[in-house]
Parts: sequence; structure tokens; C-alpha cells
Amino acid sequence: NVTIFVKSQQIKLQIDNLIYKEAYKMVYSQAKVIAGGLAHIPIVIAVFYFIMTFFNKRAIEYANAKKPKKVENKEIKAKSGSEIKTETKVEDEKPSSVSAETKTEVPIKLENTTIDKKIIKKKNADVPVNIYRPKTPYAGTVKENYSLLKEGAIGRVNHITFDLKESDPFLNYVEGQSIGIMPAGEDANGKPHKLRLYSIASTRHGDDFEGNTVSLCVRQLQYEKDGETINGVCSTYLCDIKPGDKVKITGPVGKEMLLPDDEDANIVMLATGTGIAPMRAYLRRMFEATEKGKNKWNFKGKAWLFMGAPKSANLLYEEDLQRYLTDYPDNFKYTKAISREQQNTKGGRMYIQDRVLESANELFNMIEDEKTHIYLCGLKGMEPGIDEAMTKAAEEKGLNWSDLRPQLKKAGRWHVETY
Ligand code: NAP
Repeated sequence: NVTIFVKSQQIKLQIDNLIYKEAYKMVYSQAKVIAGGLAHIPIVIAVFYFIMTFFNKRAIEYANAKKPKKVENKEIKAKSGSEIKTETKVEDEKPSSVSAETKTEVPIKLENTTIDKKIIKKKNADVPVNIYRPKTPYAGTVKENYSLLKEGAIGRVNHITFDLKESDPFLNYVEGQSIGIMPAGEDANGKPHKLRLYSIASTRHGDDFEGNTVSLCVRQLQYEKDGETINGVCSTYLCDIKPGDKVKITGPVGKEMLLPDDEDANIVMLATGTGIAPMRAYLRRMFEATEKGKNKWNFKGKAWLFMGAPKSANLLYEEDLQRYLTDYPDNFKYTKAISREQQNTKGGRMYIQDRVLESANELFNMIEDEKTHIYLCGLKGMEPGIDEAMTKAAEEKGLNWSDLRPQLKKAGRWHVETY
């Protein structure tokens, strides 16, 4: 009996031992799990803190970006090319109230400038840029390439259309943008030719309204050097290409020459030669029946084109422009300066700045309306002349052009693309 009792006590002890061991194991593993969990808390807090700091920083940066920046109140005189460059410093400024930042004696209302510019910037954020870059251009097929000139014209100016159907991603663009062209072949150093930018002459719907072409208006550059005629590399390449040829295209680029959304806007266009390219796109968007059906933009403002060409035979897209004049006499005005056939009041060549002076009063009445935008495209050389004409025209209205122009620029109403 004693033996049985001792044995049973030993077994009981062993069982108790086992139970204690298991319980200990359980408690230990639970403690490990809890400790593991607790160890993550600092990590979670650190991650949370990092996220909060990041978003706070972004919020501060955003708030700062929204704050109007101080504009350098540089004196901009109107008569020389270099001074025109000075103005572009203001170009990238954040929206700011013109009346608060710049001194002006001009009785022109620009109170809504800040709002307008914000709207323009927001709209421009959606404008496509650089879908194709020089390293990976799109090889577009030439659809058409024909002369725009009449008999007796000077030089060579062609209208060239490229098919964009096969571009992937699709090379879309809006009116007022440019594309780059990379001419085939190599330069004198055996390197591929650099790209040249050309203003797009078609609307986003293309000349055939199918929405998959882009057109350019190109004049072959020619000049004399040491008694020899030199042909421009890219312009000659473009004027010579044939339907079916493949051309390397980049872009689109540019937000400087975009049209406003406002259907009541007034659009003043000052173009010399092929500088008419973006204007052609604007005018098609405004007045071309099928295009209007596509774009649903019911233009109700006034469009005024000042066009400079050397001879009547050099006038570009003339039939279309005459048709728009007939169809929209209240909305479209067309003033030509044919330099080698007409004379200005001083007996010199008639340039668009002379026409601007002739129409000073009417033009400045339009400019006083804050819905008026002015677009300049073509020869860089016309800028000082236009500035001089605007100065005189402004004076006749008791206005100061050197004060007014930077304000128009800041308000996103003065658009320049000259080469
Ligand atoms: P163009 O036929 O040589 O000249 C156009 C007219 O401008 C002519 O009547 C010319 O008069 C006159 N002109 C000359 N100097 C002037 C001045 N200082 N002020 C006002 N008018 C003046 O023009 P183009 O060769 O087609 O040149 C257009 C320019 O636009 C080129 O420089 C081109 O690079 C540039 N551009 C082209 C595009 C495009 O996409 N194709 C876009 C933007 C700019 P006279 O010759 O009788 O003196």
C-alpha cells in the first residue's frame, strides 16, 4: 500500500510539473506576442508622424505658392528690342493684383486680372506638352504638301499636313501650340540636325475635322552669303517632302499663344508672313462651319487680323479669310499691309505697325475691354515697330503704353511668338 501511495504521489508530482511547464510555456508565448505588439507601437507612431509632417510641409508650400509674389517694378521703355526682353521677367510670376503691385496712371480697368490669370493657369494645366521628345520622336506620315502662293509671289510657302493616326500615345494638341520637326540627315559635324519649332496652323480637329492630323505653314528660308544662295535646312526639307514620307515630330509645346475659353473674348491678331499659322487655327475655330460643329465654341466676340505680306500674291489662306468676312461681317475684321505694293504715310513700305497706327482709336477702345487679347506672331523685327505704334496709338488716347503693356502681359492678354 505504501509503495502504491508513494508511486501515486510521484505520478501526481510529475503531472503537476508537466502542468506547470505547459502553463509557463503558454504564459511565456503570450508575453512574447504582447511584447512584440508593443514593440511595433513606436514604429507605427514614427510612420504616422512622418506622414503628418510630409502633408503639413506640402500644405505650407501650397499656401506659399498661392501667395502673390512681389513683382519687380522695372521701368519698361517701349522703343528697343532689348527692353522688350526685360518684360518677359514678369512672365512667370505667380498671379498678383496688378493694381496693388504696379504703379499706373492708366485709366484701364484690370481689377479682375488676378481671377482671370488663375482661370487661365488652371485651364492651361490640361494642355498637352512634350508627348514626344527629341530622343523618341513620332514618325508622322506626310498627307499633303502644297504651295500657298499665287503666281508672282516671292519665295516658297507651303501648307504641310501630317497624319497622327498611328501615334501611341496619341499626339494631341490645342490651337496656339507648336510642334518640333527633326529634319533628316546630318549637320556639318556629322550629328543629326537639331529640331526646329513651327506653330501649328490647324485646329485640334485637323484640316479634315477627323482629329488625327496636324498642319504647318512653312516658308523656305533663303538668304545670300558670299554671293551664294543658302537654303534653310529644315524649311527646305519640309517644303520638299512628299506625301507618304515619314517625318520625325516632337511636342506639342507652348502655352503662350492659347486662346481664351471665353466666347465673348475679342482677339486682335498681328501677323507677318507665316506668322499667320496660329491665327489660321484660331480663325478656323471661330468661323469654319464644320469646325464649329465639332468644337461647340460659339465665338461671339470680335476677331481682328492685321496681316503683313510683301505682295498680294503672298497673302496666305486668303480665300478662307474672305469667306469668313462674308459669313461673319460683325465678328471679323481683316486689315492688310502689303509692304511692296502699298506705302505708309512717310512713303516707305507699308507694315502692320502702320496699319495699327491708322486704327489706333478703335484698337485701343478694344484693348480697354478686359476681354480683349492681343496675339503677335511672325518676324521678331516687327516687335519694336509694333511697340512704337502702340506707344503712339496709346498717346492719342491719353494712355501710357509702357505702363499698359506689362499689365496686359500679366493679365495673360498679351501673347507673343516671334522668331
Ligand atoms: P515675310 O514674308 O518675309 O515677311 C512678311 C512681311 O513682314 C513682309 O511684308 C515684310 O516686308 C514685313 N516685314 C519685314 N520686316 C518687318 C518689320 N520690321 N516690321 C513689320 N513688318 C516687317 O515673312 P516670313 O518669311 O513668312 O517670316 C515670318 C517669320 O515668322 C519668320 O521669321 C518665321 O520664323 C516666323 N514664324 C514662323 C512661324 C511658323 O510656324 N511658320 C511661327 C512663328 C513665327 P518686306 O519684306 O517687304 O520688307
